[in-house]
Amino acid sequence: MQSDLDQILISPAAISARLDALAAQMGKELPREGVVLMPVLTGGMVFAADLMRRLPNRLTIACVGASSYPGVRTASSGEVHLAGLEQARAAARGKHVLLVDDILDTGHTLGALRDALAASGALSVRTCVLLRKDRAAARAFSADFCAFDIPDAFVVGYGLDFNGLYRNLPGICMLKPEVVMRAQMQAKAHGQGAGA
Ligand code: 5GP
Ligand code: MG
Repeated sequence: MQSDLDQILISPAAISARLDALAAQMGKELPREGVVLMPVLTGGMVFAADLMRRLPNRLTIACVGASSYPGVRTASSGEVHLAGLEQARAAARGKHVLLVDDILDTGHTLGALRDALAASGALSVRTCVLLRKDRAAARAFSADFCAFDIPDAFVVGYGLDFNGLYRNLPGICMLKPEVVMRAQMQAKAHGQGAGA
């Protein structure tokens, strides 16, 4: 797996240090009670697990699923598939929701979730992302909390995948271009997209 990597953009030590600081800020800004922390699966699970253990607030946890990003292409259509939304809506009712996702790219995923949960009786809906890409749509979304601003590039690791792989890398990394190209050629040969 290591031989597929081009460079490490953010090291595990840098992630850990930043999460300490971010959680200290969030602990003060979030309500002390009535918070439901909502990891956005699958990509947000690693970040959410590390973040929640640093928060002093009394909180419950409810997961929601979203997918919008096959391979390395952007979700330019704005189409987002949500999973487990009914349970998430029920968990959000009368609570302060904190959505925790891996990365803000077009903002379609968190936008769709924020709207759906706000409409189902949440007292408030806040968003927290590990990464925010340097592009207008990501900045315009204005997430409540963000750990790192990164260049507008495709990244993997710490929860983020390429065709289902690399989520277990401990840092944020970029893949070698030939690894991405090889996967895209294989997908084309099999008459499908690069994966989900
Ligand atoms: P958005 O809806 O903001 O366009 O995209 C958010 C979702 O797309 C993220 O939760 C993530 O699953 C996926 N995504 C966006 N950019 C990247 C990226 O650079 N790498 C990976 N692995 N996934 C990404
Ligand atoms: Mg995601």
